Amino acid sequence: MPPLAYFLYWPWARFFFVGVLIAATLAAQAQPMQGLPVLCGQEVFHWIVQKHYPQLHQAFEATFEACRANAALGFSQERSPYVIPVVFHVVWKNPEENLHDSILINQIDVLNEDYNRQNADTNNLRSIFRHVAGNARIRFELHEIRRVKTNANFQFNLLSGELLTNLKNSAQGGSNAKDPSRYLNIWICRIQPLMIFGIPAGQILGFAFPPNNLPNWPANSGAPSPGQDGVVLDFRTVGRNNPNPMPNPIGGGNLTIRGRTATHEIGHYLGLRHIWGDGDFLGTNNCNQSDGIDDTPFANSQSQFDCNKNRNTCLKIEPFYGSDMPDLVENFMDYSSESCVNMFTRGQVNLMHAVLQGPRKQLVQSSSNLDLGSQPMSHPMFYPNPTEGSSFWVSIPPEWLPCQLSIWSIDGRLAVERSFALLSDREEWLRESLESTNLRSGWYVARFQKDNRCWTTSLCVLK
Ligand SMILES: [Zn+2]
Repeated sequence: MPPLAYFLYWPWARFFFVGVLIAATLAAQAQPMQGLPVLCGQEVFHWIVQKHYPQLHQAFEATFEACRANAALGFSQERSPYVIPVVFHVVWKNPEENLHDSILINQIDVLNEDYNRQNADTNNLRSIFRHVAGNARIRFELHEIRRVKTNANFQFNLLSGELLTNLKNSAQGGSNAKDPSRYLNIWICRIQPLMIFGIPAGQILGFAFPPNNLPNWPANSGAPSPGQDGVVLDFRTVGRNNPNPMPNPIGGGNLTIRGRTATHEIGHYLGLRHIWGDGDFLGTNNCNQSDGIDDTPFANSQSQFDCNKNRNTCLKIEPFYGSDMPDLVENFMDYSSESCVNMFTRGQVNLMHAVLQGPRKQLVQSSSNLDLGSQPMSHPMFYPNPTEGSSFWVSIPPEWLPCQLSIWSIDGRLAVERSFALLSDREEWLRESLESTNLRSGWYVARFQKDNRCWTTSLCVLK
């Protein structure tokens, strides 16, 4: 295999360790690159963490184990929905990087489909895996869009351990995070090609930190600052309606982009690893290196931006399945093409829920997450619910006034928005009739917000 192909097809982590040889070979041949490997930045994260933040890596391992233990204790999928508010930071230099609102809204739609198993391609999942497909029941709510025009470049530096800190710093041409414990911050920019010894060596599509600021982390873990917590996406990967092409690393045109880099990176953000367990990180394929999830079959390396359903990189009996299984290339946490991936497993959903019950507890604005001991005993409610007529009642206890109500359809559209003022009699419940003639039949998520407290409940409309 010629060095260039070798370079393209091997996972990035190996690139670095064999990079000197390859760089020398490339320089000697002086041939233009035919294309660049395209990566999720998680490998970069792993490598930099191992090199520069060894204690952080240990802490992450401990957290991962703790989350798994929580999942084993039975945080069930029925406790959802979890609602996560999203802040987009569009940090742009050239006009095409300043993505239109419609692209950002479309990205939210994609996330709400993928994280509620409402994506249109669920039927592409092979039947042998249908029983392990999970519905994460996580909803993403667009909270704010911040736009920053910049002159800065955003470039990973592997030698110094640079993780695009300038992107997240207003003083350096980026955009400061909004309270990362309560908001999912997503930075969108042009990520410069990865350079090794001055040679373009890859293109990172996105990057995310796993759970941060955890109670079981050592105090002196040397972690990156909380202001770096969140997800970074290259602007060409955002949304299904993005007009900016991303070249295919293997040639033959452009990658199919369906907004699923965000689905993948948020998976990392919620504690998931790649399904192959990053077992080949140091160049040793390893079928024993698990992602920690029982129902993702063993794999020793990642897919190659394709959809090879014959792929079976570990010929061994899977304890969960009782037989050898092919690689689960339809999983969002593989490197298959975006037109191939369509599912999380139930085990992955359990882990994400454990993270949302644990280290990222403050993030979710959900009734499933309320600490009942510190919340008022009464909550806003709808009646009748389900509602069948042309109107329904909302009833709000005095301790929840004044407040804002927003009601979202399951496909992410804001259906109702109302404010309710304090009543003159501060002991009294507020009761008000709301029109439902414009609400289509279906299930809605309603959120009451008072100051920084939220109450999330559901409304069912029957027509
Ligand atoms: Zn990844």
